[in-house]
Amino acid sequence: MVILKTSRELAKMREAGRISANALKLAGKAVEPGVSTLEIDRVVRKYIEEQGAVPSFLGYGGFPGSACISINEEVVHGIPSKKRILKSGDIVSIDVGAFIDGFHGDNAYTFACGDISPEVQALLEATKESLQLGIKQAQAGNRLGDIGYAVQSYVEARNYSVVRDYVGHGVGAKLHEDPSVPNFGTPGRGVRLLPGMTIAIEPMVNMGTHKVRVLSDGWTAVTADGKPSAHFEHTVAITADGPVILTLPD
Ligand code: MG
Repeated sequence: MVILKTSRELAKMREAGRISANALKLAGKAVEPGVSTLEIDRVVRKYIEEQGAVPSFLGYGGFPGSACISINEEVVHGIPSKKRILKSGDIVSIDVGAFIDGFHGDNAYTFACGDISPEVQALLEATKESLQLGIKQAQAGNRLGDIGYAVQSYVEARNYSVVRDYVGHGVGAKLHEDPSVPNFGTPGRGVRLLPGMTIAIEPMVNMGTHKVRVLSDGWTAVTADGKPSAHFEHTVAITADGPVILTLPD
């Protein structure tokens, strides 16, 4: 069941989104060669807790971190670890959520660590742009397929692929609500978008195959062919005045 939010609830979600976005920005500043993913996770947790909020992911389904930190061929759900040390040339996807006053924010960004290759830079730029194109379709009266198609058609035209096994989602009082928000679809198909809907749009784009598998840790999803993957995400409200990004930093 899709839960529509009142304007008062949207204001709360904007605050949860702001904290989530600030935490993500801080995490990005911590990305540099020699840093462990656990150190980044600590930065995230400290900031969120200082705001009086709770890291949405900590303990979610048993997840041990406050952020999901996924490197290179890791698509999503990488577990922060003191053994994972970043090196120049890595791309680092960080996914962060914060819960405060009854609502969650959820956002992700793929950061470059040091110097990355032009090919990988192009993957990041295309994925980031596909998120913006998806958000543009988050209009009342449109359907979910319009969002998915916008993302999919843009990235496939560049010979990248969109992950099928993981999708965006409604977000609100729960981290994952209805509807599912795939990054693929057919224009004019799927759930109709209504004012008050709040969704996480989160393209996961692979340089090679769209296929993924989960490592033996039970969490980390990696590309089946070992090629890099990028992930960008915003929490977005559908309003009568168009899409509003709720995960904006200060
Ligand atoms: Mg999400």
